Amino acid sequence: MSAMLSAKSPAQAEQGPATNGVHLGYNLSDFALLKTLGTGTFGRVYLARYKNTNQYYAVKVLKKVEVVRLKQVEHINSEKQILAQIKFPFIVNMLCTFQDETNLYMLLEYVVGGELFSHLRKAGKFSNDMTRFYAAEIVLAIEYLHSLNIIYRDLKPENLLLDDRGHIKITDFGFAKKVDDRTWTLCGTPEYLAPEIIHSKGHGKAVDWWALGILIFEMLAGYPPFFDDNPFGIYEKILAGRIVFPAHFDANAKDLIKRLLTADRTKRLGNLKDGSEDIKRHKWFRGVDWQALLNRAVQAPIVPVISHPGDTRNFESYPELMEEDQQLQGVDPFRNLFKDF
Ligand code: AMP
Repeated sequence: MSAMLSAKSPAQAEQGPATNGVHLGYNLSDFALLKTLGTGTFGRVYLARYKNTNQYYAVKVLKKVEVVRLKQVEHINSEKQILAQIKFPFIVNMLCTFQDETNLYMLLEYVVGGELFSHLRKAGKFSNDMTRFYAAEIVLAIEYLHSLNIIYRDLKPENLLLDDRGHIKITDFGFAKKVDDRTWTLCGTPEYLAPEIIHSKGHGKAVDWWALGILIFEMLAGYPPFFDDNPFGIYEKILAGRIVFPAHFDANAKDLIKRLLTADRTKRLGNLKDGSEDIKRHKWFRGVDWQALLNRAVQAPIVPVISHPGDTRNFESYPELMEEDQQLQGVDPFRNLFKDF
């Protein structure tokens, strides 16, 4: 998509930042950063107002010096490239990227309903029907990514946002990777790591189906199946593979979770001859109208409360930093590391 680089024309500027992956020559001063929506290891995500049109966006700001220090240059460039090439109802839409001496910026649609994580913690746990709705939208998104040979690798409730009507939007493609077969990097969140990642055996698309099993369990139970105070304890439990199901779990949900949380990936559902079809045909998903779901025509179980398009009530509050105060002027030792931005 970076091949589509073009200069900002006044007409485009008036329409606002609306084109996938196209760099229209924006800079930070085109936006008012209003509030922190979330934080990551090397940056944060802000609610931003585009001054020309007063429309709201989310801007992910990444500090170049931190990205370099934490050896994430490749991951960030890959995140940008992947987000620029995908378009799917249940995945956050990236409009463009830009950079200055200090930071990289990713302009994203603002997903106003907040993290599924917050809704799950507030509810304690989700009902079988609610869980099935979110899981089904996620199956379609993972199926789409895999069809493009993209592994997501970071499925967890913090990375799942709800849009204004309560449908899923997957965000954070920092660990996503385009692969032809398998990849070897250790990354992801401890509770959601598949055994083959912990064993550093090389891993592929099957890790996302494992993580789906963890997610379905966590939505139904309110906590993940393997947890401990420290990551090594979690890894040990994942490798031991003992799942204790709460008594209230639906029998079909239990069956699906067991088939997804199968340590041997050659036997894991989603990773067999018929791929994601096996998951969609599983008894727990019986009655799901996959086409209606894809059209966002199925009523979502939680419709977020919002009173205007820039409402942030569904997000946690964070202490604010002033990005503009932290700008380096005229020095950019890392410019050539981020040519695509
Ligand atoms: P990330 O660094 O991409 O994981 O984003 C950190 C947090 O920022 C997420 O967990 C969300 O709470 C929030 N966030 C990220 N992208 C968006 C978006 N497009 N709209 C609203 N909030 C977002």
